[in-house]
Amino acid sequence: MFDYIIVGSGFAGAVCARELAEAENRVLVLERRPHIGGNAYDCLDENGILIHKYGPHIFHTNEKRVYEYLSRFTEWRDYQHCVLAKAGELEFPVPFNLNSLYRAFPEDKAEELEQKLVSAYGMEKKVPIGELRQNPDKDINELADFVYNNVFLHYTMKQWGQKPEEIDPGTTARVPVFISRDDRYFQDSYQGMPLEGYTPIFEKMLDHQNITVRTSAEADSCLSFEDRILFEGEIFEGTVIYTGALDELFGYCYGALPYRTLDFGFEHHDVTYYQSHGTVNYTVDEPYTRITEYKHLTGQKAENSTTIMKEFSRSYRPDTEDIPYYAIINEENNSLYQKYLGKAKEYDNLVLLGRLAEYKYYNMDKIVSLALELCDSINKGN
Ligand SMILES: Cc1cc2nc3c(=O)[nH]c(=O)nc-3n(C[C@H](O)[C@H](O)[C@H](O)COP(=O)(O)OP(=O)(O)OC[C@H]3O[C@@H](n4cnc5c(N)ncnc54)[C@H](O)[C@@H]3O)c2cc1C
Repeated sequence: MFDYIIVGSGFAGAVCARELAEAENRVLVLERRPHIGGNAYDCLDENGILIHKYGPHIFHTNEKRVYEYLSRFTEWRDYQHCVLAKAGELEFPVPFNLNSLYRAFPEDKAEELEQKLVSAYGMEKKVPIGELRQNPDKDINELADFVYNNVFLHYTMKQWGQKPEEIDPGTTARVPVFISRDDRYFQDSYQGMPLEGYTPIFEKMLDHQNITVRTSAEADSCLSFEDRILFEGEIFEGTVIYTGALDELFGYCYGALPYRTLDFGFEHHDVTYYQSHGTVNYTVDEPYTRITEYKHLTGQKAENSTTIMKEFSRSYRPDTEDIPYYAIINEENNSLYQKYLGKAKEYDNLVLLGRLAEYKYYNMDKIVSLALELCDSINKGN
């Protein structure tokens, strides 16, 4: 018999499984997909190029514990993610920084703007465009408008399917200009890519004598939520850690929680590299939001062979093959989520963890951190 049943084998499920197994618990992991790893899963495509099937994943964290924990299961390749924005004919690094300034404006104008920015705010500062707009200088105001239109507005409309008037002014105001020559997308202390890819991390993590993994296994194939939680028809006395979607668990009884989903357009090209950077954001005209070329991320060497992926964002349709990727966080949706949460609280041996179960956006490091904290408190209570 199992002490814990974990639904989902992404970072939330896999870290919990390992931590609980090491504390001498018998753990069953149920994963509906034919593979483990959740959205961080990677694999070779038909051309032998290592791809991330569910979108590009770059590891970065400021949490030493998370980095050290994952380092038990992988070595790292040093990789600092840099992103280029393509706005019409212009190409410049994002977040918009001093290097971007020289790519977007004529040199004399860029020099003038640089001087004004540095003297007003100092170097290495991220200044939100809301703050730039309050500056009495008209050139700085124009820069804020340029960044709003060419980096933020159309990209956000594509990503979230919004009209300009629907975009939260609070979010707009927070779009930063980075007064720096640092082109990196993240400034975290620990950054990199797992040397052999993500899937081997999950294979090692779940390879433990106390863990049983069932793939292609829907939670409801053996779990049911009646007055009590039943496992294979019997009352389950252990704990269920559920990392799937909460509305789905309860049959969408209050209505579906809205999400954005993504369509991925994979293309193989007979060239060594297709683009100069791992990710290029198409911030204005094209129907896709970004193109990622995996070889830049993974460091894989392959002559005249590369795979790229275009991302198209759209509304998620519940109860179809669509994958819910990004929770649409607003007051209305949060209160719908709270109703489901109320239902979940009826079960004292049900624990919710992860981006789906909590209806939140989490980076991988945050999920690993939360899973470790959850297991710390469970293991202390034991
Ligand atoms: C396009 C994209 C890019 C991203 N890029 C980054 C990045 O660069 N860096 C970063 O740190 N983070 C990134 N993230 C975030 C990252 O994917 C998440 O932090 C991580 O996947 C969360 O892990 P999780 O275990 O909560 O969820 P998931 O990885 O989604 O795992 C949940 C698992 O549960 C399974 N499941 C659900 N319901 C059931 C059920 N009823 N029965 C059985 N199994 C079930 C699912 O199949 C899935 O495998 C990105 C996310 C997206 C969408």
